[in-house]
Amino acid sequence: MKAQLIDRLTRYVKIDTQSDPTSSATPSTNKQWDLLNLLAQELEQMDVATDIDDNGYLFATLESNIDYDVPTVGFLAHVDTSPDFNATNVNPQLIESYDGEAIKLGDTSRVLDPAVFPELSNLKDHTLMITDGTSLLGADDKAGVVEIMEAIQYLLEHPEIKHGKIRIGFTPDEEIGRGPHKFDVKRFNADFAYTMDGSHFGELQYESFNAAEATITCHGVNVHPGSAKNAMVNAIKLGEQFDSLLPDAEVPERTDGYEGFYHLMNFSGNVEKATLQYIIRDHDKKQFDLRKKRMLEIRDDINAHFENYPVKVDIHDQYYNMAEKIVPLQHIIDIPKRVFAKLDITPNTEPIRGGTDGSQLSYMGLPTPNIFTGCGNFHGPYEYASIDVMEKAVQVIVGIVEEVANNNNDN
Ligand SMILES: [Zn+2]
Repeated sequence: MKAQLIDRLTRYVKIDTQSDPTSSATPSTNKQWDLLNLLAQELEQMDVATDIDDNGYLFATLESNIDYDVPTVGFLAHVDTSPDFNATNVNPQLIESYDGEAIKLGDTSRVLDPAVFPELSNLKDHTLMITDGTSLLGADDKAGVVEIMEAIQYLLEHPEIKHGKIRIGFTPDEEIGRGPHKFDVKRFNADFAYTMDGSHFGELQYESFNAAEATITCHGVNVHPGSAKNAMVNAIKLGEQFDSLLPDAEVPERTDGYEGFYHLMNFSGNVEKATLQYIIRDHDKKQFDLRKKRMLEIRDDINAHFENYPVKVDIHDQYYNMAEKIVPLQHIIDIPKRVFAKLDITPNTEPIRGGTDGSQLSYMGLPTPNIFTGCGNFHGPYEYASIDVMEKAVQVIVGIVEEVANNNNDN
């Protein structure tokens, strides 16, 4: 299977599918169709029925081969790659039985160094796919796409493996936060799903952040500094005051685990007008709501000193902790856990300090935990994929559908 994984991943990563946050179209870039159309064609060649919509959501069905009803399981991966780094002319390099030493990336001065990326020491003797240092690899999430395609191929070649109806979804624009945006949960029509979009071996994730973004706009009054006394209001100072009233220690650089934060991402302006952009993150819904409330209280505190309310706060929720939707459906977590146990994989269920497509899909009615793909250092030139771990991920997919069929799972 390794040779097939290498071949498929090589072919897919060479197709530029970078998404674009400045575009309002779906998919955000036309080039994502290049891979979507190829996948549709390859699925049809395997006699797997596909249905694709105008927004670039490619769904496919592998029909049940048993005569009793079991839940329909979905597997999802996104076809786009990150806009954060060059994604054209990806030139993947293969390292056979990795010796655990630092690897120089192509002709560049970049080095994939286990001293910097300690998780590489777990990949000794693995076959790795890496970049030539000039682009990202795009294994995020083409490794997930490959794993799902290979699992389908495997199931077709092994009809003795019993499974219910399986739904496949390849989706656009995850990297710009719009993966679930036009995902038609009804059309997908699965009872639950898994995104193949995690990183390290063993990851099984079903807890994400609750997430919001906040824009603080401060309106000042600009007067000649020579005659400014009791007249000038400096918007920059208002912005500084606002930020200083947030707790010092609750920032990304000083938190981990279940600790939430306020992250000031951008602060720009002049005397007349200043804008501060924050993201707010917390796993706990109550704490999350309190964080948003705190911003409004700071606004009111500052505004109380002025007549025309110079500080405005605009908060938008982005996604919620999927645990709230998934944990009550314990079997969705237990199924992959049993599969991991059979394959001797230690599950790592640490909460994600971020979100996945599953964070939104779970709230749209499709509970969707996330599973490892075997790749790391996403979104940049140090990205890599372990073909050995990818092989395990394929076994996990096959194991899940088998487990669902054999347990005649009772939802
Ligand atoms: Zn991804």
